[in-house]
Amino acid sequence: MSLIVGNWKMNLNPHDASVLVHRLNEKIEAKEGTEIVLCAPFIDLYPLSKEINHKKFKLGAQNLHPNDHGAFTGEISGAMLKGLVQYSLVGHSERRAMGETDVFIAKKVAAALRNDITPVLCVGELLDDRHHNLTKKVIVDQLTTNLSQLTAEDISKIVIAYEPVWAIGAGTPATPEQIAPQIRTIRSTVEELYGEEAANVRVIYGASVAGEFVKTIMNIEGVEGLLPGGASLNYEEFAKIVSAVQELD
Ligand code: PEP
Repeated sequence: MSLIVGNWKMNLNPHDASVLVHRLNEKIEAKEGTEIVLCAPFIDLYPLSKEINHKKFKLGAQNLHPNDHGAFTGEISGAMLKGLVQYSLVGHSERRAMGETDVFIAKKVAAALRNDITPVLCVGELLDDRHHNLTKKVIVDQLTTNLSQLTAEDISKIVIAYEPVWAIGAGTPATPEQIAPQIRTIRSTVEELYGEEAANVRVIYGASVAGEFVKTIMNIEGVEGLLPGGASLNYEEFAKIVSAVQELD
């Protein structure tokens, strides 16, 4: 079972989102074993929920607030998204760069689960961390705090995306030699925190994913899916990614 999570970022008004899903619908065939999630901007989610072929696509948010209701002007909560989306990105590096702390992200992970939304927790190191041999430490620290509000049982309901921040939007993904140790770190950290079963947590890779790289990345042990950003806005490229994954499923 592979998971493909497209992150549209801050792009596409409802009209343009509708055009894109129509094109995706024409190009992509559903295949058992491959789950496709479209993480659209909040404003697009409700109209898309009426339009998409739910047998082919699931909807995801790109963020959610840790609280369910209240005086948080401009925010959207998990309680508001409940039933509308099945997934939400949490702790994406572009949000971490805007000041989201690990503790704040931990509350969002819990908020997603509380509202029956699968959090796709994004972790990964900056280039500077890599240069200082801090990659493993950064990932372990992020996971330890970001997952701190969960039980062992919750771990089977989350997805962790390894996203080396320096490779996001770079045009070329990290190499298998760079990705594989971090996938192992993610599984061993989660196992250490939550027990043997937890090592089966769903783990995907994101950063500069395009059709031509799918086989190489999906062949890395422990990688169970992909998180394309820029490529998910181009229906031909996204369809290529999907069909390359489906060939392997
Ligand atoms: C992302 O948005 O998480 C991402 C990986 O972007 P890109 O595929 O454009 O590098």
